[in-house]
Amino acid sequence: MAEMFRLQGQGTSPGTAFGQIHLAVETEAMFSSQTNPSAERAILLDAVQVSIAALRALAARSPAESAAFLEFQIEMLLDPEITEMAAGRIGSGDGAALAWVTALDDYIAGFEQSDNDDVRARAADVIDIKNRVLAAMTGKSVADFPAGTVFVGKDISPSLFLAHDWSAGGGVVLFKGSAASHVSMLARAKSVPMVIGTGTFNIAGKTQLLLDGGSGCVVLHPSDEELRQALLTPLSMRQSADEGERPCPTAVRTADGAKISLSINVNDLSDLIGVDHAGIAGIGLLRTEFLMSSAADIANEDRQYGIYRQVLEWAGQKPVTIRLLDLGGDKPVPSADKGDWTSFLGLRGIRLLLARPEILRIQARALLRSAIHGKLKVMLPMVTLPSELERTVTIFREESTLLERCRVNHRIPPIGIMVEVPATALMLDTFGAADFFSFGTNDLAQYLTAAARDNAAVADIYTHAAPAIFRLLAHSLQIAANLETPVSVCGDMAGDPECIPGLLGCGLRHFSLAPVQLVAVRSQIAQFNADGTMAVDK
Ligand code: PEP
Ligand code: MG
Repeated sequence: MAEMFRLQGQGTSPGTAFGQIHLAVETEAMFSSQTNPSAERAILLDAVQVSIAALRALAARSPAESAAFLEFQIEMLLDPEITEMAAGRIGSGDGAALAWVTALDDYIAGFEQSDNDDVRARAADVIDIKNRVLAAMTGKSVADFPAGTVFVGKDISPSLFLAHDWSAGGGVVLFKGSAASHVSMLARAKSVPMVIGTGTFNIAGKTQLLLDGGSGCVVLHPSDEELRQALLTPLSMRQSADEGERPCPTAVRTADGAKISLSINVNDLSDLIGVDHAGIAGIGLLRTEFLMSSAADIANEDRQYGIYRQVLEWAGQKPVTIRLLDLGGDKPVPSADKGDWTSFLGLRGIRLLLARPEILRIQARALLRSAIHGKLKVMLPMVTLPSELERTVTIFREESTLLERCRVNHRIPPIGIMVEVPATALMLDTFGAADFFSFGTNDLAQYLTAAARDNAAVADIYTHAAPAIFRLLAHSLQIAANLETPVSVCGDMAGDPECIPGLLGCGLRHFSLAPVQLVAVRSQIAQFNADGTMAVDK
C-alpha cells in the first residue's frame, strides 16, 4: 500500500472531503500549421461565437452571482481586442489554434505577473476562456470530471466549477490559486471544501486524497485512523444529512440557560437554499458587494431593489441586516478605474462610498424602497469616524425626501455600523447615533495584528489575533451596554466553535455565521455557560 503523505496548503473553504483524485491535465491543442488565412480566421471567429453561445446558456441556468462571473467571460469574448490579437498572428502565418493560444498566453501572463491579488485571480477566467474557445475549435467540449472526486490542478476555472455537480461531494486542491479568486468565493458559498497553495506534487495511479479546507491540510493515501479522525472532527462543522432533516431548535441556550440568537451571513441568494427559516433569528449580514459584479449592476437601482426585496420577503418577520457595498481592499471592484481601491488601508467600504456618493445614493434608494417589504436594517462597512455615519444618514434622509416628492413608497430603516476598525472599537462611545453595532472580527484581526487577511505568509500571525480581539471586545461591549445599543458579531469567529467560549465570556449573545456552521455552533453553545466557562455535568 502506498505511503501516507501530508502537505500543507491554505484552506479557503471549510469542510472535509475524501475521494479519488481527478488530476487536471492542461488542455492540449492541435496546432495545425496554416493553409489558408481566411479559413483560419473563420475557424477562430466561429469558435468564439460557439463559446459565447455556450456561456450564455450556462449563465441562463446559473444563480445570479454565478451568472455574473460568466457574463464577465462573455464580455471578454465580445471584446474585439482579443480576437484581433489572435487574428494578427494568423496574418503572420500561424494557424487558428496556435494564434489563439499564443495571443491569450501573453494576455494571461500580464494578469499573472500583477502584484494585485484580484488582478492575478482574473487569470483563471482568461485561462478558462482560452480553453473553451480552443475546445470549440478542436470540436471538444470543456471536460467535466467525475462527480465525487477531488479536483487537483494548477487552477480550476469558474465555469468548470459552476458546471460541475458537487452534490455527490468532492473538493478542490490547487497547486497555486488565490483566496481572493472567484472560485474560492464560489467554493465557500457552495460549501465545497478547498485548499490552495500546496505547490505541485506528484500523483501516481488511482490515488485517494483527504483534504481539510479549514486547516489547509491535504493527505495523500490517508490511513484508516487518519480518515476516522478527520471525519469525526471537521465533519461536525458540516450539516450531515440526518441533522439537516431534524428541525432546528428556535431558541438556542447556553448550558445555564442564557438565550443566544443565531443569524446567518449571506453572500449569494443561493446560500438561502436549504436554510431552515424557523431555526434562525434572521439574516445578520448580507454582503451586497458579492451580489454585484459589474459597474452596470451597481448603477442599477431596480435590480438592487429586486434582490433586497426577495431576501426581505424570504425572511418574513425576521430582521435582515443588509450591508452597504464593501468595495475595495480584497473585495472585487467592478470597474476598470481601480484607483486606490485595492488597498486594505485606503478607500474601502464607507470611505469609498462617501468618495463616490453617486454609488451610495443608488444603493440608498434601492434600500429605502425595499424597506417596506420586511424588517430591514442597514449596516455601514469599515466605519472609522462618527462623521462617516452622520454623512451617510444625511444621504439616506435626502434620498428619502426625493422619493417622497415622487410619491414612491419607502421607509427609513435603522442604520448601524460594522465595528471592524480598532479605532472605532476603542471610541465606540462617540457612535451613539448608530442604531446597532456588529463586530467584524475578520477585519479587526487584520488591523489589530497588522497582518493582511489574504496573505498566506502572515496567516499564522493573523490567526493568533483572538486574545487581542477579546480584550478589545470586552472594552467595546461595556460602552455599548452603557449606550444601550444592541450588539452582534458577524466575523468568522462567530462561526468558529473554538471561539464561542471567548465570545460568550465577553458578553456577546447574538452571532451571525455561515449557514453551514449553525449545527456546530449550536452544539458548542449548549456545552458552555453564559460566562464562557465549560458546563460541568451534574
Ligand atoms: C469582517 O470583517 O469580519 C466582516 C464580517 O466583513 P468582511 O469579512 O465582509 O470584510
Ligand atoms: Mg470586514
